[in-house]
Amino acid sequence: MEIFYESRQEVPVAEACDVIVCGGGPAGAAAAVAAARAGARTRLFEMHGCLGGTWTSGLLSWILDVANKPGLMAEIIAECKRRGAYAPRGGTDFAYDVEAMKLLLEDLCGAAGVRLHYFTHVVAAVRGKDNRLALVVTESKSGRQAWRAAAFIDATGDGDLGAQAGCGYGLGREDTGQCQPMSLECHFIGVRAADIEPFIGGGQAEPKRRLLAEMARAGVEPSYHAPTIFRIRDDLFCLAANHQYKVLATDAAGITQATIEARAELHRLVEALRRLGPPWAEMRIVATGEQIGVREGRRIHGLYRVTIDDLVEGRSHEDGICNVRFPIDVHAVDPARSKGFDSAGKRARPYDVPLRALIAKDVDGLLMAGRCISGDFLAHSSYRVGGDAVTTGQAAGVTAALAAKSGRTPREVPWADVKAAIGQLAALPK
Ligand SMILES: Cc1cc2nc3c(=O)[nH]c(=O)nc-3n(C[C@H](O)[C@H](O)[C@H](O)COP(=O)(O)OP(=O)(O)OC[C@H]3O[C@@H](n4cnc5c(N)ncnc54)[C@H](O)[C@@H]3O)c2cc1C
Repeated sequence: MEIFYESRQEVPVAEACDVIVCGGGPAGAAAAVAAARAGARTRLFEMHGCLGGTWTSGLLSWILDVANKPGLMAEIIAECKRRGAYAPRGGTDFAYDVEAMKLLLEDLCGAAGVRLHYFTHVVAAVRGKDNRLALVVTESKSGRQAWRAAAFIDATGDGDLGAQAGCGYGLGREDTGQCQPMSLECHFIGVRAADIEPFIGGGQAEPKRRLLAEMARAGVEPSYHAPTIFRIRDDLFCLAANHQYKVLATDAAGITQATIEARAELHRLVEALRRLGPPWAEMRIVATGEQIGVREGRRIHGLYRVTIDDLVEGRSHEDGICNVRFPIDVHAVDPARSKGFDSAGKRARPYDVPLRALIAKDVDGLLMAGRCISGDFLAHSSYRVGGDAVTTGQAAGVTAALAAKSGRTPREVPWADVKAAIGQLAALPK
């Protein structure tokens, strides 16, 4: 391979603040709000033009594992209800209006005083002599800029910041390196909920089976064999019917190709259903995701690694910051074996994610939140969902703020202080 040596550049240090959050998905947005509410001057970098990550840029529309999540997750649910953007379907999991969610997350950040930087890529990280993360470098329309902070949070989902800082990480299955498939979602209109009720799902299997059969009747086979329709409103729906197999979160060319193939597939599926006539006769895609949904990227090594044994035994921890109740949920990695699920025959019991799984092992001053926290492949397939992303974000934000304000590293902050600060956040009036 030909190598090009980039010349050394003078990069202006744009600002120093207390806490920098990289990535504005559910975990990053929650981390930034929590850090700012805990009194830290907080800045958040996001490469897209809104907060929410998979929730919004990915058009996901469905949040799981929210039942026992005090603090920001409960607050987001209450706000979605108040704004008429909340559509449960049995149980506590719920669909939300994506556009309303973008606004809600911006409102939360705005009220807390988080400084947002959209369209800004975090591209490098620099450690000081003390092995402490000192600054991050961004690329945007403003060029290359450097930003100092006392504490950093990697909420990029893919663990970009941790990798840039030199942390060890896992990616994919421990034995083969295979990752779960990516999925592009779309929103559609032109049908009424009452007319397609048997096909509308949530967690239930039966509507998915009916939709798969309906697609077969239309002469098409989706790449995801558990296709799902989420009802957002009576006349607005999300369709999850695509799997893009064997694509790595770290391969831009692969992600591009997967996105192009996925978009073409979704249009093909919807056109086929439309040709069936009523109730699908007027079905139209109004948007495909700006970002293909990436189920897994790097899992940055932390002081603790959440493992499948934790799930099977239902382990709790003194420094538990998030109790996960979602099962092991591996979307099949190899389409030759299955285009549905492959959860290795294991069952999870409710278990804790400890704060230590959010604190980077190899570099000081760095926390992780959301799907890039420290864990193994099977454990990640469980704790990666929305309710847990927000809750790990909340704990990372509070810890980063306490570290920054006291001049300590995150691992030096006493657990009792973190626990009290999370309790205060959860007790705030809604
Ligand atoms: C297809 C799919 C379906 C899913 N279904 C469900 C479901 O039904 N219910 C549920 O609860 N969960 C579901 N999940 C899981 C859940 O949505 C995600 O795991 C959750 O969004 C994780 O939040 P996060 O903030 O860690 O990551 P993300 O949502 O991925 O957010 C990461 C953010 O970081 C930004 N970013 C990344 N790299 C950089 C960088 N270098 N510089 C700046 N910004 C960067 C991204 O643009 C993004 O906004 C699904 C996930 C996928 C992919």
